[in-house]
Amino acid sequence: MKCIINGKVLLKDRIADNLAIIFDEKIEKITELKDINVSDYEVIDAGGKFVSPGLVDMHIHGYLGEDASDGTADGIKTMAEGIIKNGVTAWCPTTMTVSKAEIEKAFDCVREVKNSGEYYGARILGVNSEGPFINPSKKGAQAEEHILKPDADFIKKHSDVVKLFTVAPEVDGAKECIKKVSYETDVLISMGHTNATFEEANAGIDGGVRHTTHLFNAMTALTHRSPGVVGAALSDDRVSVELIADTFHISKGLFNLVAKIKGDKLCLITDCMRAGGMPDGTYDLGGQEVFKEGIKCLLADGTIAGSVLKLNEAVRNLYENSDLELNEAVNCASLNPATALGVADEIGSIEVGKRADFAIADEKFNVSMTILGGEIRYKGE
Ligand SMILES: [Zn+2]
Repeated sequence: MKCIINGKVLLKDRIADNLAIIFDEKIEKITELKDINVSDYEVIDAGGKFVSPGLVDMHIHGYLGEDASDGTADGIKTMAEGIIKNGVTAWCPTTMTVSKAEIEKAFDCVREVKNSGEYYGARILGVNSEGPFINPSKKGAQAEEHILKPDADFIKKHSDVVKLFTVAPEVDGAKECIKKVSYETDVLISMGHTNATFEEANAGIDGGVRHTTHLFNAMTALTHRSPGVVGAALSDDRVSVELIADTFHISKGLFNLVAKIKGDKLCLITDCMRAGGMPDGTYDLGGQEVFKEGIKCLLADGTIAGSVLKLNEAVRNLYENSDLELNEAVNCASLNPATALGVADEIGSIEVGKRADFAIADEKFNVSMTILGGEIRYKGE
């Protein structure tokens, strides 16, 4: 049995010193350090750093030159191994609005890698299908020619591997699709890439929408006479929201406001594309050329095209630009997405009975060790 000591433990409701976390594959016991005999255990000394639950990235397309939409097993494995260095222990490979055949190939690939268990990195929870049932007028960096009319049967067919998908609730066929998917599957329905009015968004929520794809980006804005999708997502407690907290997609001036309103329904995501973890240059995103410079990724026409954010950086950005305590900022990248995805009984927080997934990080949330299911899978400085 292993034991983490000498860390500031980020529990879901407080930060605790002087604890010992005892675990195998799962967390067996959390107790005061003075109450155990450390020589009984294989000790991991956190060196005074923070001990965080493993992070959960529910919306990430690519990393290290790979992209989930490529539909290659090696690509998925490379991504899983890359993001574990950022403290991520569970993730949803995310497809773009590419052709239906390519989307299904990507689903099949994720299914195969996930079910085989033959990969070393962060645990695959299932696919996030971003589109293809979106509104062309809010396509962002999604390819217009591949946008399809909402089809519940497509999602149902792949509901063994699809964890969530994006739909514009106002487009033709969306209402029926939302209703059917919400009645007949456990797939999380997210509104996004949408031109819905406040009323149309509310009707979508009443039908079964429970999540919001990258709040503010590619949706109707909140104005005082027209609250839009942003207004609907912020005001309805049934709905969780994703935030790309890179300070570029969304002004950092909004982080505190959203955190105050959405509380435990705020989910940090990266929306990272294949240029993540790579040098500046030109990359492909769903068949379109993207130019990466620093934290910005743009199409030739200046449209924002995904990010190169790392989830541990998102935690730091939220923490540094809000009133949240560090454990609360961490919840937004662990417990909250796990809850939205319906897996919070297994992962997302440091609690007895949950999987022993941890990240050890400094005060800037730089990750120096990641533990997955009780095994050290990454060890840096
Ligand atoms: Zn995305």
